[in-house]
Amino acid sequence: MAKRKKSTEKGPDVILIGAGIMSATLGVLLKELQPDLTIEIYERLDSAAAESSDAWNNAGTGHSAFCELNYTPEKEDGSIDSSKAIKIAESFEQSKQFWSYLIQQGFLHDAPISFGLFRI
Ligand SMILES: Cc1cc2nc3c(=O)[nH]c(=O)nc-3n(C[C@H](O)[C@H](O)[C@H](O)COP(=O)(O)OP(=O)(O)OC[C@H]3O[C@@H](n4cnc5c(N)ncnc54)[C@H](O)[C@@H]3O)c2cc1C
Repeated sequence: MAKRKKSTEKGPDVILIGAGIMSATLGVLLKELQPDLTIEIYERLDSAAAESSDAWNNAGTGHSAFCELNYTPEKEDGSIDSSKAIKIAESFEQSKQFWSYLIQQGFLHDAPISFGLFRI
């Protein structure tokens, strides 16, 4: 396998556009999987997480699927389809495992109260 060039010779391995929760999460995941990866994040605003990821710009429900009725639609026969709620709830459990890992590794100092990672 060819040796990876230093980032100064060829630019970063990964460029992330926008410093919201998605770039923050993807950047951390990529770095954990491959620590020598070089990543550059570009943000058009003066600070990170000032758009949807700002705690005051989203509802903060966490989308755990236990309180949002649109995840349990009623079918034509009157029964309730809970498959989406189960899938979302599983994903939320994985998110909590990821947050626990981030605390263990020292990336975060406390668990997020709700959805907003930037609320802590
Ligand atoms: C009203 C509302 C309520 C919500 N409620 C919930 C909720 O209760 N639970 C939940 O889980 N989710 C909720 N969400 C969804 C959640 O907030 C978003 O899915 C999430 O924050 C998106 O993160 P992001 O990093 O993709 O986007 P953002 O946080 O918006 O980050 C994108 C960043 O990219 C930057 N950017 C854009 N274009 C460029 C460019 N060309 N160059 C450089 N930078 C650029 C922006 O300035 C911004 O900082 C809600 C969203 C809204 C709008």
